[in-house]
Amino acid sequence: MKCEKARLLIIDDEAAVRNVLVEFLTPSYYCAAADSAAEALALLASQPFDLIVSDINMPQMSGLEMMSHIAETSPDSLIIMISGQRTIEFAIDAMRAGAFDYITKPFDLAEVKAAVDRALGHLTRTRNRSVTVRETSASRDLRHALEREELLVYYQPKITIGTGEVTGVEALVRWQHPHFGMLSPSEFIPAAEESGLIVEVGDFVLRSACAQLKRWHEAGATGLNVAVNVSPKQFKEGRLLEVVMEALNETKLDAQNLHLELTETSMIEDADCVLRVLTKLRETGVRVAIDDFGTGYSSLSYLKRLPIDFLKLDQSFVAGATTNPDDAALVMAIITLAHNLRLRVIAEGIETEEQLKFLKLLRCDEGQGYLFGRPAPADFMPFLSQMLMDVDAPEALKPGMTQAARSAKAAWM
Ligand code: C2E
Ligand code: MG
Ligand code: MG
Repeated sequence: MKCEKARLLIIDDEAAVRNVLVEFLTPSYYCAAADSAAEALALLASQPFDLIVSDINMPQMSGLEMMSHIAETSPDSLIIMISGQRTIEFAIDAMRAGAFDYITKPFDLAEVKAAVDRALGHLTRTRNRSVTVRETSASRDLRHALEREELLVYYQPKITIGTGEVTGVEALVRWQHPHFGMLSPSEFIPAAEESGLIVEVGDFVLRSACAQLKRWHEAGATGLNVAVNVSPKQFKEGRLLEVVMEALNETKLDAQNLHLELTETSMIEDADCVLRVLTKLRETGVRVAIDDFGTGYSSLSYLKRLPIDFLKLDQSFVAGATTNPDDAALVMAIITLAHNLRLRVIAEGIETEEQLKFLKLLRCDEGQGYLFGRPAPADFMPFLSQMLMDVDAPEALKPGMTQAARSAKAAWM
């Protein structure tokens, strides 16, 4: 786990106080500073902070007036209010009433540091406790989640970079947990892997995705494919080949419309078994992608021997491609070498038009990311309504062009 510095936002209209606090706290924490409530709220809207250390007395908007806004923008941040002698009693009353969490005086730096440490200690304990509670009961309840139909499959569009057309979707599982709300895969897939339940979860996602793709094909989006993430356990302990064949037979889908995504590490860890089943699957026409490429250890020469069709460039490289020359060079090298191996490259996590332009320049084949659409339930796919506008589809499937579709399209203008 990365051990990152806690993020502090220091707000004070007096430059002298602000500077002393920033200088004093910077060696231990990441510190940003603001000279007014308005500047602080703007910063909070764009980045998260663990702890807010604010002057109570400021012109225009006081520290106390700022609290209701902070409760909306950063409900998880703790707040330390700095109060001078004149307002301290009033500030103590406000703290007791729950307006903020801690109080300190500005010029007693040892006291400031103690308050910061106390607040951060509390924050860490609370966060750890909630993560543990969620994870423990998540693994216990997952067993029932399938029976109670609490697992959902969301879909995220994949597009051809050269034309902007939607080529397919990736199926991404979610868990609508009765107590914890919507859980993302990172919150329960590790437990599912450990308990072996990933086999059932994976089969459910695979069957749901094939059935949904069939419905989309019937509605007119015939060119669409679906990508499903598979865990190595599904190869080893499950009957992946049989489940895939059953799902394809039931839906009468062409096998090449189904793509399976595996991470590099899972290919390496269970290499023999995974390779054997993958080879058979690929002979049936199913396509295979290596997911999160670049984060594992496989070399491109190793890729040459694998039965694969696509390489999904990990989103961390895409994120850095337009700002970090090392990432840009890596992206360039991976795309060129993958093309030499006749693999198509799908860039993950495209969020900005600059990233899209850069990838287009490098002839990256396909892309996926928030710029085109976030994962969403099957009946909430703006890109699809756009596709279906051109075909003879039921009117109910033809809402107007949404903002998301418009901005995706604008990226190619
Ligand atoms: P993945 O297969 O690499 O899926 C892409 C992840 O990136 C998704 O996260 C997606 O929501 C996120 N993403 C897409 N575009 C963007 C973007 O522009 N910016 C950012 N920051 N993120 C973006 P999600 O849905 O949380 O899934 C996380 C991982 O969980 C997946 O990574 C996949 O490895 C795993 N997973 C999801 N569904 C399944 C499943 O049915 N079976 C298995 N075995 N694993 C699954
Ligand atoms: Mg994936
Ligand atoms: Mg990925």
